[in-house]
Amino acid sequence: MKLPIHHISISEANGPGSRIVVWVQGCQLKCKKCFNPMTHPFTKDNIMDTDEIIEIINNAKHINGVSFSGGEPLEYPTAIIDILKRMKVGLNSILFSGYTLEEVMKSPLKSDVVRKADLSILGRYNDSLPHPYAGKKFVLTTDAIDLNYFKKSINVEYQINGNEITKTGIFKL
Ligand code: SF4
Repeated sequence: MKLPIHHISISEANGPGSRIVVWVQGCQLKCKKCFNPMTHPFTKDNIMDTDEIIEIINNAKHINGVSFSGGEPLEYPTAIIDILKRMKVGLNSILFSGYTLEEVMKSPLKSDVVRKADLSILGRYNDSLPHPYAGKKFVLTTDAIDLNYFKKSINVEYQINGNEITKTGIFKL
């Protein structure tokens, strides 16, 4: 199964612990002041097979889980479900999506992703709010993720990918 990818990296600022982050390519939601506009075009410059992504995830050492970000992971629900189903036991999963819970519930495939991820953080980014996750819905389906991380953490990372530098994490409290 194919998935357009911006990049895949290790992060300690996109959920608790050390995580693989799958940054997908493509988003049509146009949140004002989005922190990651280079992931918006639906380009097919870097298409990966989910078999390859699973291999990276399941062979990674010392990680706690996987986060899906972008771009908009819910543009590719079938591929994300495929990855979630095949991740090795013990890894937790977080979905970051700009779609609202109401929008997700209208789509059987998008809602299936939310049901399978341990935590989904849903809703458009709103730059005028005091915290990047203010106004978003947190949907927990298991107790694998401690939500206190999102209340206390002030983690910032600069992700360097070729000529691009992206500021990521929780940096506004
Ligand atoms: S959903 Fe995410 S990637 Fe898409 S515009 Fe909003 S903040 Fe940016």
